[in-house]
Amino acid sequence: MPSKARILLIYTGGTIGMMKDFETGALKAFNFSKLLQRIPELKQLDCEIETISFENPIDSSNINPEMWDQIATMIEENYVIYDGFVVLHGSDTMSYSASALSFMLENLAKPVIFTGSQLPIGDLRTDAKENLITAIQIASLQVKSKPVIQEVGLYFEYKLYRGNRTTKINAEHFNAFNSPNYPALAESGVHLKVEKELFFKNKSSKDLIVHKHLNNNVFVLKLFPGINEAAMNAVINIPNLKGIVIETYGAGNAPTEDWFLSSLQEAVNKGLHIVNVTQCSGGSVNMGQYETSTALKTLGIISGKDITTEAAITKMMYLLAQNVSATSFKTIFETSLRGELS
Ligand code: ASP
Repeated sequence: MPSKARILLIYTGGTIGMMKDFETGALKAFNFSKLLQRIPELKQLDCEIETISFENPIDSSNINPEMWDQIATMIEENYVIYDGFVVLHGSDTMSYSASALSFMLENLAKPVIFTGSQLPIGDLRTDAKENLITAIQIASLQVKSKPVIQEVGLYFEYKLYRGNRTTKINAEHFNAFNSPNYPALAESGVHLKVEKELFFKNKSSKDLIVHKHLNNNVFVLKLFPGINEAAMNAVINIPNLKGIVIETYGAGNAPTEDWFLSSLQEAVNKGLHIVNVTQCSGGSVNMGQYETSTALKTLGIISGKDITTEAAITKMMYLLAQNVSATSFKTIFETSLRGELS
């Protein structure tokens, strides 16, 4: 008889484990052991679950690259022992963390599933139980004792997505995430419908490599009509800045005014890596399709193609930490490393 899957539940914080503060009425993270007392259903699952927690659980608005290192270390230290990992995380920045971890965990051959909830687990109408229980079931999926999923996923409101393809789209609805440019990997209904052909194929048989210490000397600049020269110059002159993700219009379009293009030219001359992503919620950058993006192409701006801003900024932090040479940075950025772009 095949042995039961062993799952490590990593609790970082988020609404799922929050309670109302008596004095202020605001939601704040509480002790993890209490969280488990509230879900006796976990004992009925056909897998062995163990838990580990951040010493001080956080609201995910406080997540940072050092905490991504902590999550990565928890996975690294337990990688051999467990068949899958479920990371409980606030939904606000979950797409950033899932994207970051996807880059940090090279040759991942086991599932790492992020989930959380919009209402605390103690709330009568909570979405936490379904999210947590199904996320654990998904992380436990095996064929011939091998994990079915070998990538970082995000499970929320009946859908499993590739983590680095997601974005938070709603602050209120249970259906809080979307994966605009890549279909859901699985859908939970009466049956769990798994789209195996969409899974990331981990072709390497090499051991897991965990990359830590991402470089956060980066910036996201969202264009808007009326952006002025002083603002542009302030951004490109941020001390120690190494890269900028520019959220442009439509298929990667930007103003063609001289001051704007010379500012970008100056940034390129300074050795900054500049990635063009679209501020549209779906679709791809295609520099050269319009005159308003031709100059960007000539300047050697990197195309983010259909990547999300969350994946673009974390991929930039990851590649900067790898000390990728200036000449190969563009080629590597424009190549899919973990299925983050098409
Ligand atoms: N503010 C919370 C957080 O991201 C929201 C949530 O958990 O959904 O930690």
